[in-house]
Amino acid sequence: MADLEYKVIVGLEIHVQLCTKSKMFCGCAVQFGAEPNSRVCPVCLGMPGVLPVMNKQAYEYAVLVALALNCRIPMFTKWDRKSYYYPDLPKNYQISQYDLPLGADGYIEIPIDSGRTKRIGIIRAHLEEDAGKNLHTTGNFSQVDLNRTGTPLLEIVTEPAMNSGAEVRALAVELQRMVRFLGVSEADMQKGHMRFEPNINLMITKDGTEYKTPIVEIKNLNSFRALERSVNYEEQRQLDEFLETGEVMEMGNKTTRGWDDARELTVLQREKEEAHDYRYFPEPDLVPVELTCEWLDDIRAHLCELPLKRQTRYVQQYKLSDYDAGVLTAERSTSELFERAVALGGEAKRVCNLITQDYQRLANERACSLTALGITPEFVAGLARMIVDGTISASASSTIAAMSLADLSKSPEEIAREHRLIQKSDAGELEAIVDQVLAENPKAVEDVTGGGKKDKKARGFLLGQVMQKTKGQANPKVVSEILAKKLG
Ligand code: ZN
Ligand code: MN
Repeated sequence: MADLEYKVIVGLEIHVQLCTKSKMFCGCAVQFGAEPNSRVCPVCLGMPGVLPVMNKQAYEYAVLVALALNCRIPMFTKWDRKSYYYPDLPKNYQISQYDLPLGADGYIEIPIDSGRTKRIGIIRAHLEEDAGKNLHTTGNFSQVDLNRTGTPLLEIVTEPAMNSGAEVRALAVELQRMVRFLGVSEADMQKGHMRFEPNINLMITKDGTEYKTPIVEIKNLNSFRALERSVNYEEQRQLDEFLETGEVMEMGNKTTRGWDDARELTVLQREKEEAHDYRYFPEPDLVPVELTCEWLDDIRAHLCELPLKRQTRYVQQYKLSDYDAGVLTAERSTSELFERAVALGGEAKRVCNLITQDYQRLANERACSLTALGITPEFVAGLARMIVDGTISASASSTIAAMSLADLSKSPEEIAREHRLIQKSDAGELEAIVDQVLAENPKAVEDVTGGGKKDKKARGFLLGQVMQKTKGQANPKVVSEILAKKLG
């Protein structure tokens, strides 16, 4: 085998559906799962003689993401027509932004391994409208549902700067977390709110000479898993193909492939990518968008601390593990619950455990989000305090967390009292019980004083006796201390 090294190079195109109430250029509702062709009007159906009107909210959402992606925001942008003929696009053109995207030259930080990040350049971010959906459900024909036609889509194009399937996935996950934090997209993969198109090729060094394999674009991926696996698959396939054919990148030999999820491989779709003739030209029916400083400031005011930054801060400020900090910052509402409970006096690690373990499990059991549980930061903080000061045991806190969902108006103290979960920590009271237990178990006391293996076992036995006498309500830490004092 010749001396050979290679690395995979991936750039990503991402379409993100923005969560506006109405479509990009008409008043139709954006609604997933509605009866086919029930959310349409002459504008999004592309009837002659109608005029589009820009959805201001969509523009603001898109600029907000571009700001979060550290893009340059031009004060003047315009709309362009991108012509193509397809059954799900009744106008025969898509309104998009060609030479003046609303954001350019930005970057995103992505987590790569334990606390380290990598900066990936963002070439551009622009706004456009979605097409409809062709349905191939029954019979020997297709149907078209135009409910999705005209839905606002933010297209983001990254630099070809990722070097593994894992990095590509990390960027996609980070972007999902970011747009959710900003409140501009539900970013629900199942509903197709995020679609990915990686461009992949290899840079190969063989016997001191550099080669680049032809670029392959994989179309329309809608899960993180498919995204990562298709990149990994392509990496190996291109290496094998290069070794077999020696074909390298040249003008016009870019190909398009699709991902076959069942067989876990990419399938050739278009052999040679022709230079597309989209006949872009400025959209005559829409006025250009001119931002003012005031408007841009208003949009900027909606920026928040972004998830990755927040995650890093939790590790430093609260000494949480990177993993825990990641779970807490997966959703903005979760991180806000955490921070408010900590501000109310809950110890950070306890609050974190209650949220990421107890309540997350309860949410999973109910197949709902943490927020939907309806728990308050006051409750979580109170519960955390009761564990820290020994009022209840850690295991009792899980019980209380579960019980709290039945009646959200009750405080953790009320629930603990009702269910006799408060630990007895009163030393005087416990000492009397300990004395009683010692008097009743002279054999065990003898074993303790004897030392050795028997010692440990006997101490455990005596502690168990005290717990039994108090119906499990004694604070085991206090009892152990009393036992140690009495037995030496
Ligand atoms: Zn419409
Ligand atoms: Mn696009």
